Amino acid sequence: MGIPFNNSYARLPETFFAPIEPTSVSAPVMIRLNHDLATVLGIDAAWLDSPEGLAVLAGNQTAAGSEPLAMAYSGHQFGGFSPQLGDGRAILLGEVIGKDGVRYDIQLKGSGPTPFSRRGDGRSALGPVLREYIVSEAMAALGVPTTRSLAAVASGERVFREGFVPGGVFTRVAQSHIRIGTFQWFAARQDHVNLRVLADYVIARHYPEAMQEDNPYLVLLNTVIERQARLITHWMQLGFIHGVMNTDNMTVSGETIDFGPCAFLDTYDPEKVFSSIDRDGRYAFGNQGPIALWNLTRFAETLLPLLHEDQNKSIAEAEAALDRYSSLHQNSLQERFAAKIGIRDGDTSDWNLVKTLLAAMAEGEADFTLVFRHLSDALESGDNQSVTCLFRQPEAITEWLKTWRASLHDVDRSESLALMRRSNPVYIPRNHRIEEAIKAGNHGDYSLFHRLNDVLQQPFTSQAEFTEYEAAPAPHEVVQATFCGT
Ligand code: AMP
Ligand code: MG
Repeated sequence: MGIPFNNSYARLPETFFAPIEPTSVSAPVMIRLNHDLATVLGIDAAWLDSPEGLAVLAGNQTAAGSEPLAMAYSGHQFGGFSPQLGDGRAILLGEVIGKDGVRYDIQLKGSGPTPFSRRGDGRSALGPVLREYIVSEAMAALGVPTTRSLAAVASGERVFREGFVPGGVFTRVAQSHIRIGTFQWFAARQDHVNLRVLADYVIARHYPEAMQEDNPYLVLLNTVIERQARLITHWMQLGFIHGVMNTDNMTVSGETIDFGPCAFLDTYDPEKVFSSIDRDGRYAFGNQGPIALWNLTRFAETLLPLLHEDQNKSIAEAEAALDRYSSLHQNSLQERFAAKIGIRDGDTSDWNLVKTLLAAMAEGEADFTLVFRHLSDALESGDNQSVTCLFRQPEAITEWLKTWRASLHDVDRSESLALMRRSNPVYIPRNHRIEEAIKAGNHGDYSLFHRLNDVLQQPFTSQAEFTEYEAAPAPHEVVQATFCGT
């Protein structure tokens, strides 16, 4: 029983973190425990669901083998550099080697102050805990690389945000919590010795094949660029807006991290921003590709001392690596969106077809998820009605549908249908559904939270008992802004 900790980050030099115990909460209650994930981690789910397991997940008891610590990192937040961020409301309990052979971090979020808390309370409101639980598990079921939710716990305490609200503790699992900001921490301090220790650690943990190469650090840079390029297009394929793509919220493992003011598009709008603090649209839906490159450029800068002894050569190597990003991003985007309309190995004319559709969707305020899913129904039935009714002016899309059907003429119909149905989910965690689950959760009723989690476990399969989760929000249900997790 217990957690089979096997810690490696705690062995790194002390500048990497601050040891810190979680602070107890008064009356913890388990809201949801992810039994399947516990099993992957090699933890007995029944034990984790016991009072003893709850005490560990609430931060009330330090499990045997845990070496709790807060990680140090810096970061560019909305373009401005903060040299001193770090885990201000998160504590890494330790690592386990999962049944799949992968090393995982187990981290509490909202478990009390750390030396990095600055003026924050180190706590989390329950709302953001429920939101992160829902969205990260939905992302995992949708096939997107992401951190996972192991548990959501109500703390039984109140935290002060815009007034007093119920508090919670979230348990996050990640292949690691190392961010671009972690590299920036050492680069900003000109600590090249520990920068190399960090890079070697990341290579050994995430990209061991790079160790065999002539320049492992260049392979690291290239691999992170590739992972992130594909990650961002995966988000876009699903209409996901991260909302706070600061460099401290971008992992080097290529997992999505930090589900704060994130949201899925309802109606398609490339300029859509949800975060209430993103006034310039820096992290708008359609700006996620370019902003990822901006962040990766900051990452490349941190690696300059490692890439080559000669600084000019380092810069040339970094520039060449970054130059590959645009075509990686564009090719991946085209492939994913071609798949959404049933085309494998699309060419330029297929991409033009996608662009025309997206323009019509923006113009016609059509629901992103419903249009793509209904396209497969239209292909199967031959009837356009289920698609055209999603546009303000149905005529705007009839011509496009003709061209699309013609382009699919010599393609195997069942293959196209299968491709579309695994590229276009029926269910996404829609904002109004998350909001209603949080609202009820704040009053101690978790039934909607559970129901939403349940339906999202199989997002690509229509489930008769969950039809209400397919629908776009009615006008009065539309959520305009989401707020930071703080
Ligand atoms: P985030 O917006 O979650 O990416 O957090 C940005 C930074 O603010 C990180 O260093 C967090 O640890 C810190 N932070 C956010 N909320 C709190 C809080 N309630 N208490 C202490 N630090 C916080
Ligand atoms: Mg963060």
